[in-house]
Amino acid sequence: MSHLTQQERAVVRAALEEQRGKLIKAMQAALEESGQTQFAEVLGRASGDSADEALAVTLGDLSAARLEHELRTLQALETARLRLDDEDFGLCRDCEAKIPLARLAANPAAIRCVACQSKFEHTHAGHQHGSL
Ligand SMILES: [Zn+2]
Repeated sequence: MSHLTQQERAVVRAALEEQRGKLIKAMQAALEESGQTQFAEVLGRASGDSADEALAVTLGDLSAARLEHELRTLQALETARLRLDDEDFGLCRDCEAKIPLARLAANPAAIRCVACQSKFEHTHAGHQHGSL
């Protein structure tokens, strides 16, 4: 049994979908600006559930497109979306503590509690800045 209620899961899911939508829009805008409209188009189509495969292919190509930070964030969100119904979703990967709902709502892709995340960022200084 997961520690998240269905209602809490719905909150995280809504936050996740919203962040995913915003991120895709931002990436589209950046791609259109740089003239890479073929990627922008696929990203636009990728908003539906059926388009995950197309999205995955596009994301692979996109790594060359200098959107690596956005890309990592989007992939983290995708992973979180797939894991949302798993029993261990919302548990810290390192210490298995429950990640507070407020943290998950602010950052649905969070995979560690705050304490472990800051420890992780210390250990991996220079990588993984930002809010993940
Ligand atoms: Zn932890």
